[in-house]
Amino acid sequence: MGLSFLRNWKQAPSVNTSLTALVIACILPVSAVAAALILSFYHKERAQLISNTIGRARAAITAVDHDFGTATTALGALGTSRMLLSGDLQGFHSRATTVLASMHADSILVLDASGKMLMTTRLPYGQPLPTLSSTPLLRRILASGKPGVSDLFMGPLNRQLIYTVGVPVWRDGRIVMTLNATATSAQLAHVLVEQQLPPTWRASVLDASGRVVTRSHEIEKYVGQRLSDAQLRLAAVATEGGFDSTTLDGIDVFVVFSRSPLSGWTVFLGIPRDELTAGLRANTAWLAVATLAALAAGLTLAALVGRRITRSVQALIPPAQAIGNGDAPAIPPLHFKEANELGQALRNAGASVREARAASQESEQRLLLAADAAHLGIWIRDLTRQQIWLSEQWRSLFGFSAGQPVALADLLARVHADDRAAVQRTLDNAELGVPRYEMEYRITRPDGALRWIGSHGSVETGADGRPALVRGVSLDITARKLAELDAQQKQKEVTHLGRLAVLGELSGALAHELNQPLTAILSNAQAARRFLERQPPDLAEIDEILRDIVDEDRRAGEVIQRLRRLFDKGGTPRTLVDLNQLTRDVIRLLRNDLINHGIAVHTELSATPVIASADAVQLQQVLINLLMNACDAMAGAAPDNAVIVVRCATIGAEGEAVQLSVVDRGAGIPAADLSHIFDPFYTTKERGMGLGLSICRNIVAAHDGQLWAENNPDVGASVHLRLPQAKAHPA
Ligand code: ADP
Repeated sequence: MGLSFLRNWKQAPSVNTSLTALVIACILPVSAVAAALILSFYHKERAQLISNTIGRARAAITAVDHDFGTATTALGALGTSRMLLSGDLQGFHSRATTVLASMHADSILVLDASGKMLMTTRLPYGQPLPTLSSTPLLRRILASGKPGVSDLFMGPLNRQLIYTVGVPVWRDGRIVMTLNATATSAQLAHVLVEQQLPPTWRASVLDASGRVVTRSHEIEKYVGQRLSDAQLRLAAVATEGGFDSTTLDGIDVFVVFSRSPLSGWTVFLGIPRDELTAGLRANTAWLAVATLAALAAGLTLAALVGRRITRSVQALIPPAQAIGNGDAPAIPPLHFKEANELGQALRNAGASVREARAASQESEQRLLLAADAAHLGIWIRDLTRQQIWLSEQWRSLFGFSAGQPVALADLLARVHADDRAAVQRTLDNAELGVPRYEMEYRITRPDGALRWIGSHGSVETGADGRPALVRGVSLDITARKLAELDAQQKQKEVTHLGRLAVLGELSGALAHELNQPLTAILSNAQAARRFLERQPPDLAEIDEILRDIVDEDRRAGEVIQRLRRLFDKGGTPRTLVDLNQLTRDVIRLLRNDLINHGIAVHTELSATPVIASADAVQLQQVLINLLMNACDAMAGAAPDNAVIVVRCATIGAEGEAVQLSVVDRGAGIPAADLSHIFDPFYTTKERGMGLGLSICRNIVAAHDGQLWAENNPDVGASVHLRLPQAKAHPA
């Protein structure tokens, strides 16, 4: 977990990166929305413009129609002239010339139904006139009887491109002639001028065949030219509409058109596409500039703010390090309120750390003083750095001078050769993580003095869960140890003497008590022999003697019974004994022996007192015996197996009994001998007496208890002692 945290920490983005991302994340979506709005606005505006433009095209074509209408009306009025009806063509010529001046036309002419020109204002009256073939307009007027307008054609007299508006002249319900007004494209130009179109737009008026009649730009150059078939096809689908195209003078435009249903003529308006998209382009450019400006401003601000934050945070690193070193942190004024608050918190933390350090130094000092006063040597072993710190008291205890470097090997060299392996093992175990230990061992000081040392140690684990530090205290326990050994020696002697005394007493008593009946039996038997040698033998006397022998023998048996009873009873007054405590006392008593044998004793005591009514000294003797037997059985066992477990427990649902078990991991007992080992004088040991277990069983039996042995399922044997439970506080 720690490692992954470190990895994440290293991958975390910097303040600047985060702020840059924030600025971009804020500005780009806004720009995108603005772009979408601009585009949609452009489309709306364009649609609006197109629809407006169609309106203007319609107005233009209406103006053209109006021009034709005006000409038609004027011709219609002229057609009713009596001079024309009466055939006064000369008078009509001058009349028409007068009317022509007020019209957008360059000549008025009269054609008969066959197309023959009867008069034209273009020539003075009386001059010979050309004969025209039947024109499409004439045919249309004759067919429909309605006025009409021609397409552009080459005027036969003036050799110019012109068009004609014609009306029928009726006589007696028949069309006898047509009255026509011709006009050049220049005469229609006023229509486009009056529309007041933007100067960049291209506007054209086309006749029904798609030829340019007039144009807003360069009329002379393009008049009479036909639009392309493709353009005409696009315009043919409806009377109004628009499409993208190119003008005759090569400008990319959006073309809008409106066609007159009366004349079939069309007005085309071309809006340069540049102009159409100019707004969009301008807006887009503005947007791009605004976005870039916002980004630049935002990023600059982000960089400024980021640098300030970074500086504020980094400025707090040295103070934090100073706190770690126990110094007062110097905190500069920072740019942000929060950073200043953090700085204040660091300042407070620094003060707390310094106070805590001072307090801990003082308590350390006090501890050292107390330890010195108690002659306790303190030592700390740093397992990671392989360093050892030792208090002065410890050094003087082990005979190392102040400041002299001490390695583990130096310490071990001071330890008595017999104890060195055990000490080494304990230190190794601590390094492997056994949380605490307690050991007693001997050292030889440089002056040759042998001292007993008691050491207590506890292991501290580091962040990785492995042992990092061992702390401990060592104390000179020579005086206690010597007293203990002395007491132990004495105890041993007493025990031994006790055993010998019991034996001596037993054999003395036996000899004494049995001597008498045996002597009587002997003398009776000798007497019986004498009576048997007589002739004849005195059988009555012999019978008497044999009866006496039987009596004496019975008496001998009684003596033995009595002695056993005596032995059974014998003992000191009973007290309430806690087997837990008894176990602890005995193990303490035997500790040295056990250490010397390289044997560890584990206790599994009961949490509650395990009470029996017993002779404590006798029970101690029993437990000592069992432990010594277990030690003997494990002689030569591997160190891993050199463990005895002593277990104390209350037995039975009601707690009727208490039980003490000594479990070893020794050689075990041959199955056939499980019951014999309690027999007196049964021993398998070279120097054994074979009396220990026998005496133990007697003691236990005298306490109304049982003592038995069994082999463990895996290895070694267990000897169990069971006694009736006594209540701790009898009612
Ligand atoms: P001794 O002191 O001579 O050994 P004991 O009465 O104490 O006499 O023991 C009798 C014998 O019982 C021992 O010699 C040994 O063979 C056997 N014995 C006792 N305790 C154990 C044990 N824990 N494991 C194996 N054998 C044992």
